[in-house]
Amino acid sequence: MSTGDDTVAAFVQRLPKTETHLHLEGALPWELLREANPGKYAQPPASWDSGFRFRNFTHFEGELLGYAGDYFKSADRYHECAKAVFASRVTANVKYVETSFASGCIDFMGLDGREVCDAIRAAVPEGLEVRIFLGIHHDGWTKKMAPVLEDALLWGKLDGIDLHGAEDMPLGDWAAPYWKRACEAGKFTKAHAGEFQGPEFVRRCVEELGVRRIQHGVRSVEDPEVVAMLRGEGVALDMCPVSNVKLGVVPDASSHPIRALLDAGIVCTVSTDDPVSFGNTLGDDYRMLADGMGFSRQDLARVARNGFEVALVPDAWKAPHLEVLASMG
Ligand SMILES: [Zn+2]
Repeated sequence: MSTGDDTVAAFVQRLPKTETHLHLEGALPWELLREANPGKYAQPPASWDSGFRFRNFTHFEGELLGYAGDYFKSADRYHECAKAVFASRVTANVKYVETSFASGCIDFMGLDGREVCDAIRAAVPEGLEVRIFLGIHHDGWTKKMAPVLEDALLWGKLDGIDLHGAEDMPLGDWAAPYWKRACEAGKFTKAHAGEFQGPEFVRRCVEELGVRRIQHGVRSVEDPEVVAMLRGEGVALDMCPVSNVKLGVVPDASSHPIRALLDAGIVCTVSTDDPVSFGNTLGDDYRMLADGMGFSRQDLARVARNGFEVALVPDAWKAPHLEVLASMG
């Protein structure tokens, strides 16, 4: 179907897409936060402005935890949020989503993690494939949480685990054996790395945690040996350019290393990360590649294709989407 609209935005809308780096708490639609707390959240935050920069990760995390604490008071709220997030992805022509929820909802909000996971799963609409991850911060293994995290490996509706939170917090000895047990239990494993910590932490996540998907991985580019290791091990990077600019991981779009990493043979995908904080849509992230980094339409289609290539679904499911992408770029 020709829409007659030849803008990059219209092209991006038509691309079948994936999001493989999306925090559910960070994707909370502003309308839901406002409905729940009309006085406090009448207006979207200053951080939605395109020129806004967070001072550091603590600044960003503090704001985000404030929103999450005011909204995610029950498993039902997770369901409502997931329903709205998934519906908006379907409208944006997203076919596959990997989303995480934070183990902090159990640790600090007192929710039942299995109930939250089931509530998210129950919100998945027809026509969208969703994989659900439990995000665990570096010091997330506590006396209270250890039995919960062990039990999580048995939750049938949980697809995997992801390492979250401030990267500069020391990562305890619990992590490597737990990530291994997760694999043995059939869970897919990922880790956030190379956003604020350098390439050595990316290497550690690949070598010690055994992950083959890094969330961000921006700073991998600083060490050619780490880039070669990622290529050799077939590790993909789920990147979020708008997030990286607003958090000061890179000074501006033109300094973002995604082009260099793609050219080095690394599979890179694009996602929004935490749109409640950045005010971005997936289209905005693709447009940053086009407008800020000179990506051609063929390049954009290649990034979209990477998302389907890493998707945790059978090849037969991917085939029709890859065919559409082949016809577009
Ligand atoms: Zn993230």
